[in-house]
Amino acid sequence: MPNRNLVYESLVLRARESPAGARILCLMTAQEGLVDVFVFGGPKSRLRSIAAPYSAGRAFVYYDPVKDFSKLSDFEVIEGFSGLRESLARIWAANLVAEFLQRTSGGGGDYVTVLGLALDCLRGLESISEEKAGYPALLFLWRMFGILGLMPDPDACASCGAELDADASVFYSGHGGGFLCQACENAEFQSQSSPAIDLEAWPITGGAHRWLARSMGLPFEEVLRATLGPVSLDSLKALLFGLARRAAEGPLATLASGGGIL
Ligand SMILES: [Zn+2]
Repeated sequence: MPNRNLVYESLVLRARESPAGARILCLMTAQEGLVDVFVFGGPKSRLRSIAAPYSAGRAFVYYDPVKDFSKLSDFEVIEGFSGLRESLARIWAANLVAEFLQRTSGGGGDYVTVLGLALDCLRGLESISEEKAGYPALLFLWRMFGILGLMPDPDACASCGAELDADASVFYSGHGGGFLCQACENAEFQSQSSPAIDLEAWPITGGAHRWLARSMGLPFEEVLRATLGPVSLDSLKALLFGLARRAAEGPLATLASGGGIL
C-alpha cells in the first residue's frame, strides 16, 4: 500500500482555476520537481489564502492513486515573500522565474538545487532595491543554464579554446557554440555570406563578461552587490533572455510582456 500522504518542500509557482471552480497550484518541489495539486474551499478559505504564489514551505498532499489525483491538505508557510507583491519589477522577475521553471520541467532533475536557487533568487528580490530587481532574475537564469548543461564557458573561446580575458568584451555566437575570441569572431563573420544568419549573436561588453565570469564562484547574494552600466546591463539581458528562450524552446510570455521593466 503506497503512502498516500505526502510532504513536499515546495515553492508555489502558479495558481489557476479548473473549469469546475477548484484551484490548481503548480508547486516546485525538492522531491519530485513540478507537482500540480488541487485546493478545495471557497475564495475565503484559509488554505487558498496562504498557499498562493510565491509562498514557500511544507506542502501536505493527499494522493489518490486510483484517480491519479493530488489534493493539498495543508500548507506550512516558512517564507511568504509578501514583499514581492509591493513592486511591479519584483513581481515581474518572480513571474519570469516561475515561467522558466514550468517551461523547463522544473530544471530537469536536480530539484533540490533548483528549488534552492529559486529561493535564493526570491530572497534577493525581496532585499534588493527596486531599480536593481533585474539582477536576481538574471543571476537565476545564468545559474539555471549551468544546471541544465547549457551554460557557455565565459573563460574560454568556444571555437579555438583560447583563454578569454574576463575584462575584455567578447562575442557570443549561437552558431559558434559560445563566446568567441576576437580572431574567431572575425573568422566567423567572414565565413558567413550574411551575418544575419546567426540570430543568436550578441556582443557582450567587458563589464557584462566580467559579471558572468565572476558570478560562478561566489555566493548568490554576494554577486548581487555588483552593478553594471546601462550598456553592459543591456548586453547581459540580450544574452541571458536569448539563452532562456532557447532553453525553453520558444518565446517566454513574461519576456514578451515587459522585458523593459528590469
Ligand atoms: Zn578563438
